[in-house]
Amino acid sequence: MTAAADGSFVVSAGALRGSVFVISAPSGAGKTTLCKRLLQEDRAVEFSVSFTTRPARAGEREGVDYHFVDRADFERRRERGEFVEWALVGGHLYGTSATAVKEGAARGRDILLDLDTQGALNIRRLIPGAVLIFILPPGRMALKERLEKRGSDGPEDVARRLGLARGEVEKSPAYDYVIINDDFDTAYRQLRAVLEAARCRTERQRPRLEAILREFSVDT
Ligand code: 5GP
Repeated sequence: MTAAADGSFVVSAGALRGSVFVISAPSGAGKTTLCKRLLQEDRAVEFSVSFTTRPARAGEREGVDYHFVDRADFERRRERGEFVEWALVGGHLYGTSATAVKEGAARGRDILLDLDTQGALNIRRLIPGAVLIFILPPGRMALKERLEKRGSDGPEDVARRLGLARGEVEKSPAYDYVIINDDFDTAYRQLRAVLEAARCRTERQRPRLEAILREFSVDT
């Protein structure tokens, strides 16, 4: 990891033994449920816990869902260069821990980042080998129905989230993979397939590949 001109970090793909996966989606597309199942079933994946200034929601745990900090604490960390990227989302600050990403991936773990589209596109610039995955709802009406069914938001909130969704889905063509979450099991299978494919990339296989090639190069 090296410091870029703007004080942020750039990670060369060769420095990481694990892959960095970034997942984005509008609220209600099923991203959280997909990520939770993935983290339960695929032990090679580690979730990067972000820092945020937003208050914890019911059921959220410190250090598991987020590190909940106040604005002054967040800003101190930002000045010390503790974040790979940070963004203002819905009036709250969110930042990805540089240490968590760098150390996890250097240990050979796959790191999963749950980021908004600004964060994802910044990560693509800073970690060129990162794999960007967008979870898309099957349509606008389907998303509206899901948000209404969730029951946690009033009509104004649903309208606000749909407005935000538009800005997010517009960025989906810039991602490496788009998973349309029509049917949960299919979407989950596709997410697993993306991870498996990334693990088979020649670059990622290079250390083992070279060892095998060396074996073949010795005449017996
Ligand atoms: P929520 O408050 O609903 O958990 O998250 C709001 C948005 O912030 C989601 O789109 C989520 O992906 C994004 N987010 C969470 N952590 C980070 C982060 O560290 N950086 C960026 N850029 N976005 C984040």
